[in-house]
Amino acid sequence: MSQEKKEPKRSKPASKRDIFKKPVDKHSVENLVRPFILKDEDYKRLMEIMLGEFNKGLGKETNPTAKVKMYPTYVRDVPDGTENGNFLALDLGGTNFRVLLINLNGQEVTMESKIYLIPQHIMTGTGEHLFDHIAECIYKFMNNHDLLNQKIPLGFTFSFPCKQMGLNHAVLTQWTKGFKCEGVEGEDVVRLLHEAIKRRGDIDVECLAVINDTVGALMSCAHSDRECAIGLILGTGTNACYIEKLENVELWDGDNNEPKQVMINTEWGALGDDGCLDFIKTEYDRQVDKHSINPGRQTYEKMISGMYMGEIVRLALEKLRKHGLLFNGKGSEELSTRGRFYTKYVSEIESDVDDHFKNTKQVFEELALEKYSDEDCRIAQYVCSLVSTRAAFLAAVGVATLLNKMERPDVSVAVDGSLYRFHPHFHDLMVEKIEQLIKPGLKFKLMLSHDGSGKGAAIVTAVANRLRESQSESIGENGLEN
Ligand code: ADP
Ligand code: MG
Repeated sequence: MSQEKKEPKRSKPASKRDIFKKPVDKHSVENLVRPFILKDEDYKRLMEIMLGEFNKGLGKETNPTAKVKMYPTYVRDVPDGTENGNFLALDLGGTNFRVLLINLNGQEVTMESKIYLIPQHIMTGTGEHLFDHIAECIYKFMNNHDLLNQKIPLGFTFSFPCKQMGLNHAVLTQWTKGFKCEGVEGEDVVRLLHEAIKRRGDIDVECLAVINDTVGALMSCAHSDRECAIGLILGTGTNACYIEKLENVELWDGDNNEPKQVMINTEWGALGDDGCLDFIKTEYDRQVDKHSINPGRQTYEKMISGMYMGEIVRLALEKLRKHGLLFNGKGSEELSTRGRFYTKYVSEIESDVDDHFKNTKQVFEELALEKYSDEDCRIAQYVCSLVSTRAAFLAAVGVATLLNKMERPDVSVAVDGSLYRFHPHFHDLMVEKIEQLIKPGLKFKLMLSHDGSGKGAAIVTAVANRLRESQSESIGENGLEN
């Protein structure tokens, strides 16, 4: 099985425990971190804002100025489980770039994959250079797997905001998550990939489908759970897709055949880019944004996802230290260095369940902090938990808004991403908040999706390939358009 329900964790996040011994500290520390704590009414207001933004993105007239773009994908239905064959997949759009070989055979799925580094100079270089690099990685992978003399259909999981024009046409709207390659925004990334493959001339690969990682997660879980109707990413960035009725998608330009639905890639990371989240922003959020490579963009994402969470915590810890409330006011070069407090530290620190603070002390050592007390450990844990709790609750608002909008009685949400996977409380916090916010009678579960970006791409490609092989008459009837 490629997915499972996350085991509930026993311990409570520090934000829910009374951890301070000295009331005077509590007062001043709390004063500085209070902005991270949102009230119930804030979350309710956020729900309304979010629904408004989703509808703006879906409306024909409002879409051009909407910040949450609600892109229709050309994926119309979940898999039926009969998909089979060998497929290549590319996963680009986060920490690691991977090439995968996937074999689908009914419910049996096997895959091999290899991670290839994308050096910083390529991430911020030219598009041609990026796609040449990708094509070279495909070549190396095929060479290592003895596939050079075969023609294998490829699915491309490209997890950046794209306006999709067909199943294998996706125009990049804007780079996010640290990528900034010249000459790609406004272009069809499948065309750029095909051109790079052609420039090499030594591999025979055709990309049949380009999908977003949210769609990959959804499709991958739906392969064994037909109730799956939302795909959610909580990794480097955050985004979600869901199944929407065609009648609600004013921008839909495909056919109206059954099933009268399509997956919508919300690109919700951009929520707030018009200022609608300013009422919950803290000084720490503003600083993170200011020093990012895309200031003013991806506001919601920057409050939630793994690329930014550690930095928010670091800024708050630094502030406390400067006020003499942490480490006796004495920091370290590491703690003062932007990006040096990794988001995985947040998970590690929050995983300490007793007063030995083993992980927390380990993190302090890694940050070259020389002197720290148990009280420092407690405060650091508290700050981490406030930031991660806010993130989990904000993500929960998004999921609850989609659940209420869809009004399906029982929905499985496929979740992928290291933040969700490894943080000790993220799952439980999200469940708690979603339960508070959804309409009575609606049921849901959050499922961990393993490797959706590979398996999901293979499934969509398999269907596209089947359609292509069975000639054009059946296009449209099988839930996918090309
Ligand atoms: P991507 O979203 O890039 O496909 P991942 O799902 O692995 O990849 O997410 C990477 C992000 O997850 C990084 O920003 C990293 O900081 C964060 N991350 C990695 N490990 C952990 C962890 N143990 N706890 C919380 N976040 C983590
Ligand atoms: Mg990923």
